[in-house]
Amino acid sequence: MTSSPSTLQRVHGTLHALQVPIPYPMKTVTVMIDTSAPVTMIDTALDTPEARAAIEDGLTALGLHWPDVERVIITHHHPDHYGLAGLVEERSGAAVQMLDVEIGRGERYWHLWEEWLPGHLKHMADHGLPQELLDTLELDSRRTRARVQPASRVQPLREGAMLPLAGAEWEVLWLPGHADGHLGLWNESGGLLIAGDAVLPRISPNIGLYAYTRPDPLGDYLQTLGKLEALNPARAVVGHHGPVMDGVQARARELRAHHHERLDFIRAEAGREARSAYELSLAMFPRELNMAGRRFALAETLAHAEHLRLLGQLARTWQGEAWVYHG
Ligand SMILES: [Zn+2]
Ligand SMILES: [Zn+2]
Repeated sequence: MTSSPSTLQRVHGTLHALQVPIPYPMKTVTVMIDTSAPVTMIDTALDTPEARAAIEDGLTALGLHWPDVERVIITHHHPDHYGLAGLVEERSGAAVQMLDVEIGRGERYWHLWEEWLPGHLKHMADHGLPQELLDTLELDSRRTRARVQPASRVQPLREGAMLPLAGAEWEVLWLPGHADGHLGLWNESGGLLIAGDAVLPRISPNIGLYAYTRPDPLGDYLQTLGKLEALNPARAVVGHHGPVMDGVQARARELRAHHHERLDFIRAEAGREARSAYELSLAMFPRELNMAGRRFALAETLAHAEHLRLLGQLARTWQGEAWVYHG
């Protein structure tokens, strides 16, 4: 048997976690492989030569080849988790599965990207994103799309369903906020949660409002944090900076406090002076950010401003070329 790459770690029975390189600041994404039948891969990384090689090495170290993979479960549609889904499907004939909620919007985005782009751009422009950042959005979206191989068919999983994995039954959870249809898998007897990006140890998962997302991602996420607190897993396998973390309940409380601080900040800033979500994002994220970082900052700020508007704590008015939020 080939020696295991140092990035491969057994986390629970036949379930292994592989750290796969991605060209993003988090550096790696967790891809899980269960070697028991049905052989399952959970998440897939972005399509780059480095990621393909890392996954192949991981399979080899476990005595497997592409055709052995029988099932692929994707936690959410983001390119660093979904990117290779179509390739794994093609090489193995495996069934790709996602939460039903995610198939309708997030997964569809990769198929309809070109058609949805004008709406995506208009949404950002309507919230004040300057033209030079809109131009990079189109360019970066095109580049990312080239690294995503969408699956040809995706089977829906429903919240509350039980599925077999690593010789046990796991409950399918719906953990929205970071993505509308973010899936979690919960093994109650082992106290183990497969969390994807629903909770992360070192960074706050991006909660962004986009043209194609549900209207209140932050409201969704605060509920997800409540679910995680109540679940109180002993350990979670996470998408980045893992593969395993403990202290999920405490981390969920910390993230809740962090979002409440941001809500207080936005409420005070918009209350003082009417501003677009982009202008508010410059106040909330005053440090130097690259173009992509600025767009994430806008989407995150907007999720907070809209949450306050839906609670009746802020109003918004169309002013000239963009929406402005005010008290
Ligand atoms: Zn993500
Ligand atoms: Zn991720």
